[in-house]
Amino acid sequence: MAVTRTFSIIKPDATRRNLTGAVTKALEDAGLRVVASKRIHMTREQAEGFYAVHKERPFFGDLVAFMTSGPVVVQVLEGEDAVKRNRDIMGATNPADAAEGTIRKSFAESIEANSVHGSDSDENAAIEIAFFFKPEEIVG
Ligand code: UDP
Repeated sequence: MAVTRTFSIIKPDATRRNLTGAVTKALEDAGLRVVASKRIHMTREQAEGFYAVHKERPFFGDLVAFMTSGPVVVQVLEGEDAVKRNRDIMGATNPADAAEGTIRKSFAESIEANSVHGSDSDENAAIEIAFFFKPEEIVG
């Protein structure tokens, strides 16, 4: 299995509850290495651009408001089969459906305030990493 990269966000519900370390430990325990990380407060333009794929969905406005409601931590994660590995440890979008031991089962508040984002494909990982990081900010 190849070592690849994925993009992660620790969302405002998690930073508000001081769970940055707990979420990062879960990612590291799952075999992922944080090779870039920064705490930012997303602008409305950034959130709308990042979630543009969802702009026709009924939850889009609320999602943008939530993602700009407080600080987030954007991260690049590296590991074997990083996209799948991260999706597995994140758990299902709705915490009510998430498996025991996953980040969303342990920490998420709701289907919206679900603590973490993770890329869903290698292609999207590359796009999302480039949305927030310059190549020199990633130190593998
Ligand atoms: N979301 C929401 N309501 C929904 C579905 C999704 O608020 O009914 C939010 C939630 O924060 C989710 C994000 O929109 O993480 C992106 O949705 P997606 O279906 O891509 O889920 P993910 O890939 O994050 O599991």
